[in-house]
Amino acid sequence: MNTKLPLFILIVLAIFSCKNKIENKATDSTVNEDEHEIVHQKEHKHWTYEGETGPEHWIEIEKESDCDGKRQSPINIIDVNAIDEASLKPIDIHYSANVKIHEITNNGHSIQYNFEKGDFIILNDNEYRLKQIHFHEPSEHTINGIRYPLEMHLVHVSKDNKIVVLAIMAQEGESSEPFTFLEKFLPINTGTTKLIDTDFDLNQNLPKDMGYYTYSGSLTTPPCTQNVTWFVFKTPITISLDQVKQLQKLMPLNNYRDEQPINGRTIKQYTSR
Ligand SMILES: [Zn+2]
Repeated sequence: MNTKLPLFILIVLAIFSCKNKIENKATDSTVNEDEHEIVHQKEHKHWTYEGETGPEHWIEIEKESDCDGKRQSPINIIDVNAIDEASLKPIDIHYSANVKIHEITNNGHSIQYNFEKGDFIILNDNEYRLKQIHFHEPSEHTINGIRYPLEMHLVHVSKDNKIVVLAIMAQEGESSEPFTFLEKFLPINTGTTKLIDTDFDLNQNLPKDMGYYTYSGSLTTPPCTQNVTWFVFKTPITISLDQVKQLQKLMPLNNYRDEQPINGRTIKQYTSR
C-alpha cells in the first residue's frame, strides 16, 4: 500500500506534465500564427491622406473598393447648377435627447462617436438609423469652391444596408456648447476607444436653416462604397476659433479627400420656405 501510492502519484504527475507539454506546444503554434498575421498586416499598406498611401493610391491599396468609381464623393457643389425641385421636403429627422453616445474612437482617420440605437431619419418611407458621427478637418465637400474649416458627417444605415449621410459644415463664429461637450473626450490616441455612455441631443448640432443639396455619391473613405445618398446642409453651424484650433490639434490632420468628378450626376436642392 505504502509503496504503491507514491508510484500512483508519479504516474499521475507524468501524465499531467506530458499534457502540459502538449498544451504548451499548442500555445506556441498559436503565437506563431499571430506573428504571421502581424507580419502579413505589415505587408498590406494601409490607406492614409498623404504620400504614397494617399487618396490617389487608394484603388491600388484597396483593390476591391469602389474608389475608382464614377459616382464618388466628395464634390464641389455649385449652387447655380443645383436643380430646385419642388417635390423635395425638409429631411424627416427623429433625433432624441435621450439617445446615448456609446463610445468615442480614434481610428487613425477621424474621431468618431458611435451612438446607441434611437436616432433615425425617414426617407421614402424607409428608416435609416444613425450609427455614428465623425469629422473631417477641413471640409470635404466644397460649396461654390469654398472649403469650410470643418465638416461633420452623420452616418445613417437602413435595414437593407443603404447609406444616407448628412453633412454639416462648421465655420468660425460663436462657440458651440455641444462641441465643448464632444471635445472634452479628446485627446484620444490612435487605435483607442473610450466608453462615453452619456445622453447627447444631436438636434443641437443641426443648422437653423434646413435647406440642403442632395446627390448620389459614395463613402469618402475606402471602400468608397457607392449609392450613398448625401444631404449637404447649405447653412453652416458655428464653432469658436478656439474649438476649431482644439480639433486641429487633437484630430488626425487634413483628413479630407479632394473633389471628385461629377460625371453627369444631378445635384438637387431644397430651399426652406
Ligand atoms: Zn466622413
